[in-house]
Amino acid sequence: MVLMKILLAFLTSSLILAGCSNAAEDSQPASESLPSIVTGSFAVAWLASSISDGCAVVTDLAPSGGDAHDLELTASQTASILDADLVVPVDGLQPAFDAVAESKSSGVFDILDLLDPLTAEDHADEDGHENHGLLDPHFWLDPKRVSDAAGFLGAEISKLSADCATKVEVTVPAVQAQLEDLTQEFETSLATCSSRTIVVSHEAFGYLADAFNLEQIGVAGLDPEGEPSAARLKEVIDLANSLGVSAVFTESTVNPDVAQTLADALEVGILTLDPLEIASVSKDYISLMQTNLESLRSGLNCS
Ligand SMILES: [Zn+2]
Repeated sequence: MVLMKILLAFLTSSLILAGCSNAAEDSQPASESLPSIVTGSFAVAWLASSISDGCAVVTDLAPSGGDAHDLELTASQTASILDADLVVPVDGLQPAFDAVAESKSSGVFDILDLLDPLTAEDHADEDGHENHGLLDPHFWLDPKRVSDAAGFLGAEISKLSADCATKVEVTVPAVQAQLEDLTQEFETSLATCSSRTIVVSHEAFGYLADAFNLEQIGVAGLDPEGEPSAARLKEVIDLANSLGVSAVFTESTVNPDVAQTLADALEVGILTLDPLEIASVSKDYISLMQTNLESLRSGLNCS
């Protein structure tokens, strides 16, 4: 066993040395000669960056504010999608992005189909018929699906170059281990909550609910700018009252009026739950999800 370890260590260091000497012999690739990956989703961009680890240039077209669903592309952003070696749309998240991606004949990897996607009515309640048949794009709010996505995306990224193929063998298991830890943290932390119902305005948390045995009551549908009817608001208030909901969750980038109306009617507080749709410069996916977990623990009275 010890001998095996020494042998492995020797082989690993030889491989590293071999890698170094190759890199030294080749001219150092300029960033424009690296393969390019373009996505419109913050979480997919985080995943692509973590997995490619410098072997490719990752461009995230997610807007830095406002509504990620209503992404409008500039001419240069459209060109960057068309020119990219790998484009990773999330079907249904951004119609503008999807439309340009669909016009490419190759280099498009639509990840949602592979991740056991939920349809809108899987988690919407009676009002879900408006979204009948639509897939819910927000898969990244389930870290288990993100782990699956890491495997699928890694296989695509490994095709971009020999350097990427080497990187992916190391980065994918490392990212998946991080996501496994995050999943465990959610499961442990949410095991003992007195409420399991999350009342939200933007119905982005179906996958989170699916992963951790929570119930989402959404007011405004899949699109954060959706305006609920007075009848729908009343319906949600009655339902939430009957379930003894102890908080309303909203996100920092949407109009807070709906959440405030609900919170006032239910006489509960408002907490932030981030759908992780817009670009974030300061935090990574894992820490943003941990912040969400803190919010959930507080809003659901988890001991
Ligand atoms: Zn959304």
